[in-house]
Amino acid sequence: MTCDGSVMSITRNILLWMSENKLMKERISKLGFVRKAVKKFMPGETEDAALEASKEFLTFGIPSVFTKLGENISHLSEATEVRDHYLQLIDKIAERKLDIEISVKLTQLGFDLSEEETFKNFYAIVKSAKEKLNNTVFIDMESTIYTQRTIDFYKRCKKDFENVGICLQAYLFRTEKDIEDLEATNPSIRMVKGAYKEPHNFVFKDKAQADDNFFNCARNLLIGSKEKKIRLVFATHDEKLINRIISEAEIQNIHKSKYEFQMLYGIKTSLQKQLAVDGYSFRVLIAYGESWYPWYMRRLAERPANIWFVLKNIFKN
Ligand SMILES: Cc1cc2nc3c(=O)[nH]c(=O)nc-3n(C[C@H](O)[C@H](O)[C@H](O)COP(=O)(O)OP(=O)(O)OC[C@H]3O[C@@H](n4cnc5c(N)ncnc54)[C@H](O)[C@@H]3O)c2cc1C
Repeated sequence: MTCDGSVMSITRNILLWMSENKLMKERISKLGFVRKAVKKFMPGETEDAALEASKEFLTFGIPSVFTKLGENISHLSEATEVRDHYLQLIDKIAERKLDIEISVKLTQLGFDLSEEETFKNFYAIVKSAKEKLNNTVFIDMESTIYTQRTIDFYKRCKKDFENVGICLQAYLFRTEKDIEDLEATNPSIRMVKGAYKEPHNFVFKDKAQADDNFFNCARNLLIGSKEKKIRLVFATHDEKLINRIISEAEIQNIHKSKYEFQMLYGIKTSLQKQLAVDGYSFRVLIAYGESWYPWYMRRLAERPANIWFVLKNIFKN
């Protein structure tokens, strides 16, 4: 690893540690210049701000995925509030006839407290999305302590509902096998690189290896999709990787309508629009909500250069 590489890796680890630290959360999330900087990645804390942003993206032919930020809640009453929030949101989306899917974190619906309550909360959201929007609800993938439980949860949901998707992380050694295992369930899979601080024995230490694993998983999924019903979502801002996936799909003779790309609001917006113009299926993920701190710290960790953007806001203030 180069000197630059090791500084990046240390910075990433510090930021990921900060993302999990309660005291840091208390202090940092109150700082005005940080709150301003967050706006780069989210249009606002309210669902109305997210709905406004989604309307703007629709003018470019880009539909959205919504996620209300929050994770690892401590009381089941908070999970019920999150469920009710999503149920009301689904009603609003249906009324306004918008093309918006939802993606949720299971720990925001009670996964640390009661699996059965999490099922009830999640089922209510999936059922409503099926009936009112006829679209898919995705399950985010969180840190490795949840990977197996999340996959088991997904499989259980798939028995009752076909409109459920799951996110898988390419930085994990296990993901290629998980894909093989899930292929029989006609899955909807969103591939990402992975955003958490994980023990070395679970993840590719080298970023280039994780990137290669993303491509290998993508190729397996593309090939698998020729015979099985698989919805394929590649969620990355890595242009080189996107081009490799597009070339592989062409080699495999798979039409661009058979797979899709997703990116986060505020990152590489011109590439997002270009993909839509070029006829690729593309969705932008719009996050909102007050509990943005851990999520935002993971965004900083992905690209430590973002810290300069935060610091610039001190001087702007
Ligand atoms: C739609 C969507 C859903 C996701 N869901 C999950 C999930 O459920 N679980 C999970 O673990 N992770 C999730 N992620 C995050 C993902 O794991 C990565 O951490 C994140 O996408 C960055 O990786 P990358 O593929 O863009 O590649 P990278 O190699 O990290 O980045 C490629 C290039 O994109 C740009 N870029 C990337 N990140 C940033 C940033 N934060 N700020 C500015 N520029 C940036 C930079 O130019 C960078 O060089 C999701 C990502 C997306 C887009």
